[in-house]
Amino acid sequence: MVSSEEWLGARRTCRSPQAARVPRARFGDPPPDLRRRLCCSAVRGRCTRVAMGGGAPRAPSSHVAELVAGRGGLRRMLDVAYLLDSPPIPGAVIYEYRTGALLQRVREALTALAEKEDRIVRLSKPSELLANLVETSLFEPRQLELCDWKTGAVPKASERDLDAILRAFAVRTDQRIALFVPAGCELTRRPSWLSVRAASFVLEEPAVTCETLEPVLRYLEASTDLADQPDLLRQEGFVARFAEMLADKPNLFTLIRAFDEVVVTATDPVSNRYDQAQHRRATLKRRARASVSDHLKGLLAGSDSWDAVRLVAALDARRWRRGWSARTVMGELYELTARLLKDGHGGPNADSRHIVLWTALILAAEGELVPTKARTAHRSRVTADGLTLGLDRLVRAYIARSGVDLADPLSGVWGRLDRTLGRMTEGEAGSPEGSRDKLLRALADALPSVSGQVDPLWLRRLAQRVRDTLEAVDTAPDASTVENAAFDPRGRVGTLATFDEVLGHGHVVKALRQRVRRADHGTGLLLYGPPGVGKRTLACLYAKAVLCDEPTPQGASCNRCEACREFERTGGLGYGYADLARTDARDRARDLVRIARTAAFSKRVVLLIANVDACEADAFDVLLKTLETPPAGVTFVLMGRDLREMRLAGVSRCRVYRMRPVTALQAQVYTRSLLETHGVACDEQVVSVLAAAAGGRPGSLRSLCERAAGLPACTLPALRAALDLNWVGPTAAWMRAALDSRPVPTVPAPADTTNRRDEILRRIRAIVLHLRLQDVAGADLDKISADPALLHHEDDELEALNASIEQQAAERGVGALVLRQSLARDCLSDDHREIEELRWAEPAGSSRA
Ligand SMILES: [Zn+2]
Repeated sequence: MVSSEEWLGARRTCRSPQAARVPRARFGDPPPDLRRRLCCSAVRGRCTRVAMGGGAPRAPSSHVAELVAGRGGLRRMLDVAYLLDSPPIPGAVIYEYRTGALLQRVREALTALAEKEDRIVRLSKPSELLANLVETSLFEPRQLELCDWKTGAVPKASERDLDAILRAFAVRTDQRIALFVPAGCELTRRPSWLSVRAASFVLEEPAVTCETLEPVLRYLEASTDLADQPDLLRQEGFVARFAEMLADKPNLFTLIRAFDEVVVTATDPVSNRYDQAQHRRATLKRRARASVSDHLKGLLAGSDSWDAVRLVAALDARRWRRGWSARTVMGELYELTARLLKDGHGGPNADSRHIVLWTALILAAEGELVPTKARTAHRSRVTADGLTLGLDRLVRAYIARSGVDLADPLSGVWGRLDRTLGRMTEGEAGSPEGSRDKLLRALADALPSVSGQVDPLWLRRLAQRVRDTLEAVDTAPDASTVENAAFDPRGRVGTLATFDEVLGHGHVVKALRQRVRRADHGTGLLLYGPPGVGKRTLACLYAKAVLCDEPTPQGASCNRCEACREFERTGGLGYGYADLARTDARDRARDLVRIARTAAFSKRVVLLIANVDACEADAFDVLLKTLETPPAGVTFVLMGRDLREMRLAGVSRCRVYRMRPVTALQAQVYTRSLLETHGVACDEQVVSVLAAAAGGRPGSLRSLCERAAGLPACTLPALRAALDLNWVGPTAAWMRAALDSRPVPTVPAPADTTNRRDEILRRIRAIVLHLRLQDVAGADLDKISADPALLHHEDDELEALNASIEQQAAERGVGALVLRQSLARDCLSDDHREIEELRWAEPAGSSRA
C-alpha cells in the first residue's frame, strides 16, 4: 500500500515548477485519504473557474490589498486571481519571477483575462518581440501578446536592442502585452527598465523572508488543492514551523513543497486541524525512512517497485534539506554504490549483475545530471527539478533494463558511458572526481566475480573499458602538478612576433591592426572558432601591440621598445591570461580582476580570457562585474569555441570575430611558402600530406612544417614515419583477418597512448570511409580523403581488404557495394558495436606490445 506522502512524492518527482499544482493521471489513483482531499479541491476548482469566466468576481482577499499598499506604487502580488478581479489594468503586464513556481497560474489568469476582454493569446519569442512592438501593423488589435523572456532569449541582443525593446514597451500602452522576466536578467538590468516598470502593471514573485512569510502562507492556504477551506495559519505552531525554515533561505518553490507536505502529513482531512505532535512524528518517521542507501538496496534487489520512487524522493529530500548541488548528489550516489559494490553486494548471486548495470547507468547519466559546461551555466544552473527528473529517468531506465533478460542491457548507453570515462582520463574540471574514481575501482574489483559465470559480451566490454580507463588514469601525469607548473597567468605569451606571420584570418588581422593604429581599445574583443585555429596567437599579438610604446604605422608592435621586450619575457604588468576551463579558473579569474583594478597605475591593461564558453558559472561570475563595466584602460579579449554557449553578459560588450579553419587549398599554399622559407624543396605529395595533417590549424601547420624541414630528407616515406602515418597497412590487414574470422594479427599501437582506443576506432573508420568513397563515381581519393595517412598510399593491404570484401559479398550473394555500405553504416554510427566486436577478437594486450 502506498502512503499519501509517497504518492505526492511520485507526483512531485515528475513535475516541473512551471506545471500547475494539479495531480497527473499517470501516478495511478491516490490513496483514499488523499483522494478525499483532492476531491474537495476539484469541486472548488470548478467553482473558481466559474468565477474566472466572468461571473461574480471574488473580492480581492485582504492580503492582496495589504501588499498592494505596501510599497509606494510597486505592486507585489501573490494572488494572481487579482488580475481578474482588479479594476481595469493598463496595457502591459510584467511578471518578474524567481523560481517560476507561479508561472502556470499567472499564465492561466492572463488567458482568462484575455477571454474576458475577448482577445486572443499569442505566444511570442523574445526575438520576435521587438519586431512586433515596432511594427504596429503586425499587431492584431484584439490580441494579448505573451512573451517569456527565458524561452529562447535573444542569443546576442545588444544593449541597443534591449533598450529599443524597453522603449517600445513603455510607449505601446495601447496594446495588451504580458512579459515574463526572470528577476535579475539582462533586461531588468537596463537603466530604462525602471521607467518601464513604472508604466506597467507589475507582478512580482516574492522572496520568502520574515515579512513575506505570512502573506505567502496565506496565499498557499487559499490556493491549496489538498484541503478544503483550511484555516491553518491561526493554529498553534503552524507559522512557527515555517519560520524555522527561514534560516535555510527557502524560495517560493521550497515553501510550496513544505506546505503541501505539512497539509498532507500533519492535518486532519476532515477538520483541517493542524496537529503539531503528528507533524513531529511524521518528520521523524520520514527521516528514518529517508535512508537513501536502504532504498537503493531495495531497488537493486527488485523487491518493491516503490523503492524507485522512494529513492528519488529520499535523495531529493536530502538535497533540499542540506542545499546540495547536483554534483554533490551525484557524488553521494557514487559513494553509496561504491560501498554496496565493496560490501559484496555484487557477490555470486542473481542480483550481482544488477548492481553492475546500475553502476554503468549512473556513470552514463553523469553528463546529463551534472552539466559541467556553460551549456547550462548561462541559464544560471540546473533547476532542482531538472535533477529530480533526471534521477527519475535514470531509475526508470534501470528498472526497464534490469527487468528483462537483454543481450546488451547497456545498448544505446555506451556512448554516454564513454564520455564520462573520457572525462576521467582528461581530468576535466568540476566533476565529482574523487567518488567517481572510487566507484570505478570498486567496479573493477567486483567485475571478475560477476562475469565469471556466463560472461556475456556486454560485461566483457564493460570490464575492458573500466580497465582501459583506470590504466589511462594511473599512467597519466598528475594533472594538478602539470597545471601548476605550466600555468603562469602572465607567462603564456604568444609564439609569433608580428601580424605578418599569421596564416589566414585576414579580416581579423585587418581589424586588429586598425584598432592599434587608431589606439581605439575601448570595446572588448571576442574571438571564436575551433580549437587550434589561432585565437590565442592573434590575441597575444594584439595584446603586445596594445602595450607597445611605439606601435608601427601599420598597426603592429615595434618589437624593440622596453614594453615589447618585457612582453616577450613575462607579459608585463599590463597583461593577464586566464583559461576558464581549468580547475583553478576561479582563482585565475580573481587574478584578472586584481590586474584590472591596477589599471590606473599602468598605461593600458589587456586581459585574455580563454574558453569562455566552457567555464563553470561561478568562475565567470567573478569576472562579470569587471566585464560589464571595465575600468578605464582595460581591454578584454574573450576566446571560445562556440558563440551560442557563451554568456550574454560577456558577448554583448564585445566586438565579435569568427575565426574559420584554414581550407585545404589555403593550407597547401601556406605549406609551400613555409617550406620555402625553411629552404626545403619537396614534391607536391609531401605538401598535400602536411596540409592534411594540420587539419586546418595554422599553428600545427607551422610546427609540422618545421618538423618536416628538420628531417634528413623531406620525402614521403620519411614524413610518414615521423608523423606516425604508417598504420594503414597493418590496420587493414587486421580488419581483413577479423572479417575472414582468421586469427588476428597485432594492431599497430598509436604513438599517443592516452586515447588509444579512440585512435584505433578513428583509424578503422577512416579506412571504411575511404573504401566507401571508392564507390562514388569520379571521386579523386587523394583530393577528398581527409586522413593524411590515406593520401598517396601505395599499400597492397587496402586492396586485399577490398578483395576480401568483394569475395565475402559474392559468398553471401550481395553486391560488394551493399557490404561496404553496411560496413560503413556500422562503423560510422555512434553505437559502433560492430567495431567493438572486431576489437574483442583481438588477443588481450596485443595492442600494447
Ligand atoms: Zn614596442
